[in-house]
Amino acid sequence: MPRILTHSFEDFLRLVQSFHGAVAPGVVVGGFMVDLAMSRIPEGTLFEAISETASCLPDAIQLLTRCTVGNNRLKVINLGRFALSLYDKYEGKGVRVFLDVPKLEAWPEIKAWLLKLKQKSEQDEAAITSEIERAGHSICSLQPVQIHAQYLGKRNRGPITICKLCHEPYPARDGAICLACRGEAPYIGSGQSDAYCNKQRCLHYQIEPLA
Ligand code: ZN
Repeated sequence: MPRILTHSFEDFLRLVQSFHGAVAPGVVVGGFMVDLAMSRIPEGTLFEAISETASCLPDAIQLLTRCTVGNNRLKVINLGRFALSLYDKYEGKGVRVFLDVPKLEAWPEIKAWLLKLKQKSEQDEAAITSEIERAGHSICSLQPVQIHAQYLGKRNRGPITICKLCHEPYPARDGAICLACRGEAPYIGSGQSDAYCNKQRCLHYQIEPLA
């Protein structure tokens, strides 16, 4: 039986179900990818993680390491590649693990899933999971990486100020008003109460912008 760090494969599947909401192939195979990367990180290293996709892999990292989005030790840099890196928090030296397509020839279900060769409705999730269990690390490849300095060290948001429009705190470095009030909020309309409504942030402004 393969193991994923300290977990049996069966235990890991249960964790995936409970955390991710489904036994998604991406999280399951991600478990082996994290396991492989961890085996190359020297014991005692304070490491951080990058996921090159926003789908599935971040949850494998969050399940198996202390790197989470919330503690800023996991960064999702969405390059669209199914790959992750673990690296020394301060030095940036680490390892990148990716699913290696030429190694998938012996595993048609995994290949069809990764390359979307089948509609989701045609995919047999149990068969994919079974192939992932048997393939383990053998479908992954490793490469050494050095993380760019801009991603290393302590990150400080700097001083906080109160937005003149929404009256909520935000990092002063974002400018005179907060990013939401500059139009970056995902809400239709202002997403705020009418009490703060003014020309810059209400729907009328979007229809008839100020000069
Ligand atoms: Zn604001």
